[in-house]
This record gives sequence, structure tokens and C-alpha cells, in this order.
Amino acid sequence: MQHHLYADAHTRDAALASAPYGMFICTADGTFDAVNAAFEKLTGFAADELLGTRSFESLLDPAELAKRRAELPPLAAIGARYEGEWTSVRRNGTTIRVVLALAPLVTDSAQTGTVLVGEPARYVGIVIDMTRYALSEARLWYVAHHDGVTRLPNQTLFTERLDMMIERCARNGNGFSVVIAELDHLRKLRDALGLHAAELVLQIVGERLRGLFPNDGTIASISGTQFALLINESGAAAETFATEALGRIAESIDCGGTALNITASIGIVAYPADGADAPTLMRRAGVALSAASAVHGNAVRRFSTALEGQAARRFELERMLREALERQQLHLVYQPQVTLSNGRIAQVETLLRWNHPQRGLISPVEFVPVAEEAGLIETIGEWVIRTACRDAGKLLRLTGNLPRVAVNVSPQQFQRQNLFETIRSALEDAALDPSYLEVEITEGVLLGDTELALQTLHSLRELGVEVALDDFGTGYSSLAYLTRFPLNRLKIDRSFVMRMNTDPQCEALVGAIIAMAHALKLRVTAEGVETAEQAAQLEALGCDEAQGFWFSRPITVAALCNLLKPLGAV
Ligand code: C2E
Ligand code: CA
Ligand code: CA
Repeated sequence: MQHHLYADAHTRDAALASAPYGMFICTADGTFDAVNAAFEKLTGFAADELLGTRSFESLLDPAELAKRRAELPPLAAIGARYEGEWTSVRRNGTTIRVVLALAPLVTDSAQTGTVLVGEPARYVGIVIDMTRYALSEARLWYVAHHDGVTRLPNQTLFTERLDMMIERCARNGNGFSVVIAELDHLRKLRDALGLHAAELVLQIVGERLRGLFPNDGTIASISGTQFALLINESGAAAETFATEALGRIAESIDCGGTALNITASIGIVAYPADGADAPTLMRRAGVALSAASAVHGNAVRRFSTALEGQAARRFELERMLREALERQQLHLVYQPQVTLSNGRIAQVETLLRWNHPQRGLISPVEFVPVAEEAGLIETIGEWVIRTACRDAGKLLRLTGNLPRVAVNVSPQQFQRQNLFETIRSALEDAALDPSYLEVEITEGVLLGDTELALQTLHSLRELGVEVALDDFGTGYSSLAYLTRFPLNRLKIDRSFVMRMNTDPQCEALVGAIIAMAHALKLRVTAEGVETAEQAAQLEALGCDEAQGFWFSRPITVAALCNLLKPLGAV
């Protein structure tokens, strides 16, 4: 029994009166119902100027209130408690910085925690003068528990609340969800717009999420770029909420006159199904979030053990890949691309190979996406460019005969200022004429920072490097892309070539792509040609070049050297 907590009414009134912090009680619309002496002293107003006439909001600085309106929840929406830092205007017009804490008043006849039915709702408020306690514990506590940019609770406070939530739900058997949202391409946004604009975006998104937020939950800013939310739903309602949140975030943001369209990715875990403690729940929410942002972002993913397995394999692959870089387990192979009309090698495409001492050959299909996600593709890509140029220089000296060498370049490599410089210096170091080099890009390049990518491509063309568009037909394949990119060559994806001799429509489509490319003065290469029949069909359709196992599998640089040597040479 906790009788000692419930003093008689007279003692309680006395306690309120002599409490050293400003305290008040208000009705559901915020009108003062009672204030204590410390509150009168703090604000300069006498009780009878406040009671029944003014609301606590009327004591807040109106300009600040207008700006931060969304941060102050309606009283009815406060579940456990609200606290925030505000500027209050005193009777004499001077202002003070205060921490305002609000909580529903629970009458003692309702010790179970529910407000008595039929009794009008009341709220209790505490106001602490922050200027006086500028460096006090309260102030330090506030600073240590809130995010400086969004003013939302930070990781520390979120973890405390998560622990509390787990404790409560473990007792009453309820479930809840942890939802983590992260803006897509935040780094790119920061690079393009600067830190200040990126912070503004975070603030706006924070406000939007708060506006959506169901009554008794918590929304926090964690790890600088993520929002974490606790919601009292463990089922499908969490997804509904998350989808709604994506929609709200996607509404355009006015950033100094420019309309920004931001998307986010969201991961969801449920207590207790996905974990019984905070670290497990947070880790798994992170796994779900990564899965959501892995493809294009703008998606919601719920945690599953299958996702965790994938994440573990990716993590292991990433660790091994870093090791492979150090131990030089990567090498290049070359696949010839043949001119159909005369059988000569027009280009060779460099393809990455990873020979792992225990696991054997690991396919680039498996490790290139991991490298892209782990931020390793720039290092690997630079190594590929340098090695390809060096090999090409050697081949030319040894054979006197060199087809163009095509290098695959990931969209991420275009997001850095220095791709052009990397290529230029690799060519120079290898003493190779730029016309021997070609870059193969995918449509993904145009999904990122288009300006920078286009500028890099134009500079490369000016230098004499050729540009090919890879995997045509698999992505958006928009005609607009073909005219926007400064291209020399189009590569038709293998999936078309595969279906061509069984599907007449597919054959018609390939014919149309070829005609269109020719109209735009582009050469066309068909990928994945595996049979003589396919090769003949492509030649009949007017395709310029072909690449595939029918002509040659990817081969080592030594084998390529033998292939290029003029007949009779040793
Ligand atoms: P991609 O650029 O489309 O490369 C062509 C892929 O098709 C290669 O697979 C090649 O071995 C395969 N191929 C060629 N002819 C045939 C054929 O007749 N039949 C079949 N079934 N396959 C054929 P690979 O070497 O496994 O590379 C896969 C992908 O990995 C590449 O697709 C490319 O997107 C990526 N990749 C490879 N090397 C690099 C690199 O150095 N940098 C980057 N960023 N990506 C690379
Ligand atoms: Ca390619
Ligand atoms: Ca391709």
C-alpha cells in the first residue's frame, strides 16, 4: 500500500503553495484553474489576473509560438507528459526562457491511472526558469536529452522511454512498435544544398512526423539523420501509419525558393514478437530500415528473420570484401565485343573477378551491390580504371593492336567530383590515348545528381573517352535519356537477346531499338549472344556489334594478349 503518497487535501494545497517551482493547474482548453506563489513571482501576474481568464499559452512569446506551434501538442494529446523549452513573456513585458512541463492530472480516486469518468479533464503544469538555472542540472538534462537541430528527444531520452515502454508492456501484456525513418540520399542533399538546408529539411520532416503522430507516443531524433517513433500498435496499423508518414514526407518542401522532393525509408519492429529488449529491437529496426532503403528507398519494411539472415550475409561479405581489397584478391577479365559484319574485335569489356581463397570465385552480381552500399565502390572502381588502363597500355606495346577497352562505372562513382580526374590521370600514368577507353554507364547515373554526372560525361567526351549505355531495356529506358546523355553506343540487355528467337514481338522490339539508336547516331551492341542463330538474327536486324559466349567468354589478360597478337608473331 502507498498511503504515504496521498496526503490530505490541506497538506497538498500547502505543498503546491510552497513549491519552489512555478506550478499551475489548467482546464482542457488551457485556462488557469490554480497557480502557486512561485508561478506568480515568475510571471509577475497575480493569481486573480490569470484564473478563469487567461491560458498558459497566452504567457508564451507569440512569435515563437507561431513558429513552433507544431511542437506544443494539444493538451488532450498528451499521454504521459510533455516538456519543452519556451520563452515566456512576463507581466512587465520582459521575457524569460523556461522549461514547460505538462501532464494530465490524475485524481487520487483513480490510482489505476485513468482519469475519473465524468470529471472534467485537468492538467498540471510546471514552469522552471532556465535563465536562473542556465547551467543547472535541469538545463544540462534538457540539452543532454534533446537533439539540437530538431529539438526532439534524442537517442538517450528515446532509449529511456523505450525501456519504460518495454517495462510497462511486459506488465500489462500489450504490444507496441518501434518505427525508424531515415531520409533517402541525405548525404547527397547535404553535398548539394549545404548543411543548413539539410538541417532545415530535418526540422520540417520532424514537424510533419510530429503532426501525424498518434496521441501517446514518442518521436525522437536519433543518430543525426534518423527519426525513431514508438507507437502503441503492434499490428498492421503500424504499417498504415508508416505509409502515411512516407506520403507526408514526400510532400514538396520549399527550401529558399526551390521545391525539394524528399523521400524516406522506414523500418518497423514489433514488441514482443521481434525482440524483448531495447538493443535487439533497435538493431532489428535498423535491419528493416536497411532493407527498405536498399532498393530505391521510399519504402516501408517490417523486420523478419529472413531479412536478418540477408543482413548478416551482406555484413560478412562486406568484411571479406575489405579484406580482398587489402590482399589483392580482385582481378580483371576481358570479354571481346565483335563487329558483326567483319568479325573483328571492336571493344573488350573489363569484368571484375574476386577469387576468394576459401569460397572460390564470387560473382560481381553478388559483390558489386554490396560494395556500392558499403561505400567501397569508389576505391574498387578506381582500381578497375587504373588496372584497365595499365593492362591496355601493356597490350598495345606487346601486340601493336588494341581494341577499345570498356570499363563499367557505377552511379556512385559519378557522385564525386573526381571521377573525371581519376580517369584522366589513369590514362596519363599508363601513357594511353583516351580514345582507347570507354565507360559503360547505366541509367542509374541519371537518378542521382544529374548536373554533376552530365558534366563529368561531357568532359570525358571532350577528352576523347567514349560512353556506352549499358543494360538498355531493363530500367526506365526512356528516350529522353538517350538524347540527354552524350552517348556513343547503346548496349541491348541480354534479356532481349535471350527471348528474341522465341518471341516475335521481342525481335520487333530489338529491331526498333536498333533503328532508333541509329537515328540518334549511336552504335548498337547486343549482350549475351550465346548461339550462331542469335548472332545471325542480330546481324539481319542491323545490329553493329555483339558480345557473348558464342564469340568468347571473358578471358584473362594473358589470353587476350595472345588473341591480339598478329598471326605469326611469337
Ligand atoms: P554487365 O556489365 O552487363 O556485364 C556483362 C555480364 O554478362 C558479365 O557478367 C558477363 O560475364 C556476362 N555475359 C557475357 N556474355 C554472356 C553470355 O553469352 N551469356 C550469359 N549468360 N552471360 C554473359 P559478370 O562478369 O558476372 O558481371 C556481372 C555484372 O557485374 C556486370 O554486368 C556489371 O554490371 C557488374 N560488373 C562487373 N565488373 C564490374 C566493374 O568493374 N565495375 C562495376 N561497377 N560493375 C561491374
Ligand atoms: Ca557492362
Ligand atoms: Ca550489360
